[in-house]
Amino acid sequence: MNENKQYDVVIVGGGVSGTALFYLLRTYTNVGSIALFDKYGGFGQANSHPKNNSQTLHFGDIETNYTLEKARIVKAASDLVATYCDKYGSEKLFKIYPKMVLAVGQGEVDALKDRYEKFKELFPALHPIERDEIAKIEPKVVEGRDPDVPLFALHSTEGYTVDYARLAADMVERGQSARSKDADVFLNTCVDSTRKTKDGFELDSSRGKIQARVVVYATGAHSLTFAKELGYADDLIILPVAGSFFHTPNVLNGKVYTLQLKKLPFAAAHGDPDLCRGDRSRFGPTAKVLPMLERGQWKTIWSFFKLFDLKLSSLMAVGSIIADTTYLKFIARNILYDLPLIGRFFFLPNIQKIVPSIKAMDVMPLKDAKGIRPQIVNRVTRKVSLGESRIVGDKIILNITPSPGASTCLKNGEHDMRDIIEFFGDEFKIDDDRFSTDFPKRS
Ligand SMILES: Cc1cc2nc3c(=O)[nH]c(=O)nc-3n(C[C@H](O)[C@H](O)[C@H](O)COP(=O)(O)OP(=O)(O)OC[C@H]3O[C@@H](n4cnc5c(N)ncnc54)[C@H](O)[C@@H]3O)c2cc1C
Repeated sequence: MNENKQYDVVIVGGGVSGTALFYLLRTYTNVGSIALFDKYGGFGQANSHPKNNSQTLHFGDIETNYTLEKARIVKAASDLVATYCDKYGSEKLFKIYPKMVLAVGQGEVDALKDRYEKFKELFPALHPIERDEIAKIEPKVVEGRDPDVPLFALHSTEGYTVDYARLAADMVERGQSARSKDADVFLNTCVDSTRKTKDGFELDSSRGKIQARVVVYATGAHSLTFAKELGYADDLIILPVAGSFFHTPNVLNGKVYTLQLKKLPFAAAHGDPDLCRGDRSRFGPTAKVLPMLERGQWKTIWSFFKLFDLKLSSLMAVGSIIADTTYLKFIARNILYDLPLIGRFFFLPNIQKIVPSIKAMDVMPLKDAKGIRPQIVNRVTRKVSLGESRIVGDKIILNITPSPGASTCLKNGEHDMRDIIEFFGDEFKIDDDRFSTDFPKRS
């Protein structure tokens, strides 16, 4: 690496977010020199890895915690990924399975029917189905279930299941070959700190110093650490929510989601075929609060507490969220799910809500899932902020991407691309015609 070279744009983080931006800048702008850094030996090895996330391209049709407005936004963002997959994707990148959201019991059935009336216009591919049809599409969902319990589902044939690590690698490859000029990619390179200089930024990395005019951090929860180092986001801390999964024999043909609780988005488990293990179904994720920014990376416990800035308000914010009885019960339950040997017994009812005939001996914990959803907490308001968070500073952008950050990677990348072009004034431009031709509006 040439320590004296100043890149126009440096992107730190080769997950699906950083690589989406790399692809967009290379393909749709004339920005001169761009470098992409990641600390691991491949792209998408952290939260974007298929073992660590649910592999779902979220549209908001079967995610019942989304309001209509939020679903509209997420759909527009996910449409970009669907378009990319349809255009360039192979079997290895994504698969399309049927998907449904399942209501069990009269209360849920009424709520889902009501929701359908409001959402059907936005999602014309979503169809209401009753018990008989559910049984045809997903026999195991009905088999062994009490016939007196009402059942209803919203079903679509368009369930995109994406290997976001492969998507990340694909976007880097396409970005590199988009034009011949100046794109450097450095793996196994950890960036440690950032300093503002007279004409940009200097970053310290395990390979030496990096000079940049504009910097984008797409390092998940770590982005907040870098933001604070530069004096941004004083009010924000992270509540890291780790997710584990369980395997069973193959019992599902597609994705089966259940109704989410309003207060606990993504808390309700779902089941689906696993892209990594075609012979298995996967259920989860659980949601366990862990004091670390990256699961299994013990030194990130220190990084987590460093975000608190020794401020009592940070502890009070986490304390007041955890003290809420809904959260407290949920956190306690999720600790039980991860207990060795007996955790699966506690998790079993969540699976049986979807596939009643599953027995504990069919359920195996998936040991190598290492995903963490960085939920952003405002220590002043003591509230969890849902969705992605972008911190846009002076010629620097820092992205923290809780779920569904993989689904929205290209839209977030588009926002970053437009901000970056603005940072440079008239120096570079976006080829908007090409962008809108490549990503036309989908119905
Ligand atoms: C259990 C679970 C289920 C989920 N399910 C879904 C789902 O179904 N659909 C969906 O859309 N989203 C889902 N998500 C969220 C999704 O996985 C993330 O939003 C998305 O992967 C974030 O991508 P990213 O590139 O921002 O972060 P990451 O994939 O975490 O990438 C960050 C990158 O930064 C690198 N990095 C970090 N620090 C440094 C450093 N100092 N120097 C150099 N490199 C560094 C890391 O190596 C990593 O490659 C889920 C998340 C979890 C945990």
